[in-house]
Amino acid sequence: LDEYKTKGNLTLGDVFIAVKTTKRFHQSRMELLLDTWISRAREQTYVFTDEEDDALKRRMGGHVVFTNCSTEHSHSALSCKMAAEFDAFLLSDQSWFCHLDDDNYLNPEALLKLLSSYSAMKDVYLGKPSLNRPIRASETLSNNQTKSVRFWFATGGAGFCISRKLARKMMPWASGKNFLSTSELIRLPDDCTIGYIIECKVGGQLLPNMFFHSHLENLQLIPTSHLTQQVTLSYGVFENKLNVIKLSGPFSPQEDPSRFRSLHCHLYPDTPWCLQAVGW
Ligand code: UDP
Ligand code: MN
Repeated sequence: LDEYKTKGNLTLGDVFIAVKTTKRFHQSRMELLLDTWISRAREQTYVFTDEEDDALKRRMGGHVVFTNCSTEHSHSALSCKMAAEFDAFLLSDQSWFCHLDDDNYLNPEALLKLLSSYSAMKDVYLGKPSLNRPIRASETLSNNQTKSVRFWFATGGAGFCISRKLARKMMPWASGKNFLSTSELIRLPDDCTIGYIIECKVGGQLLPNMFFHSHLENLQLIPTSHLTQQVTLSYGVFENKLNVIKLSGPFSPQEDPSRFRSLHCHLYPDTPWCLQAVGW
């Protein structure tokens, strides 16, 4: 690993991957990720959740962080988890921080290829822009007056990455208790808060990247032949319909509703349970 580092090549060991989850998704979502992409990126993946769970702990080794964050879907509970992810990254010695939701599939090789084209010694914030324009928010000032602010942010549900250089500059607003107080200034979710800190406080900017995907876009529109190049994918409900990638097998939609198992076999056909699925 070190030999590669001195040659300047980025390895997966240089990336800190944080997955946000909550107790009610440990079985339904985390098991799927553990069976699929996490098995290919175990060393650098950490799961941030809100309740102790021996089964999850056993499968993740020491890589589960039980935050004391509330199990609610409130802005403050989610910001509490993002703060825990950010602090854990700062304590690590990795060069890149990547955040994911528990309904994301990450392709580690595609991620490495992407990050290799940037320097972690520069300010880099990569992800899928949430909107096609900057969001407007009202920032509460110390004298209780408000100021209108505009900034771009990456959808948390598509995953995003931040270089260490930029993360260090974010510390006054993002580390420890600061994240929650910053998010309260604009009263928006955690992913918006990240964009606000980077664009309005640090003076950085989001680099839009089309290889990150959430279930807020129509995932059927990604050509099957392009799936292997994508950094993140997702599944979920969009406009009242199941929104999944277009991939015919090896598993049926009944066996694999998210299509993540089929995608994993598409990427890693030598996986034992993939060989079984195609009847070897
Ligand atoms: N989540 C959480 N606490 C909650 C609800 C959700 O930490 O109370 C996490 C969840 O595990 C996922 C992310 O927040 O990583 C987004 O949740 P979800 O996919 O259910 O919602 P949506 O994508 O519609 O925002
Ligand atoms: Mn989601």
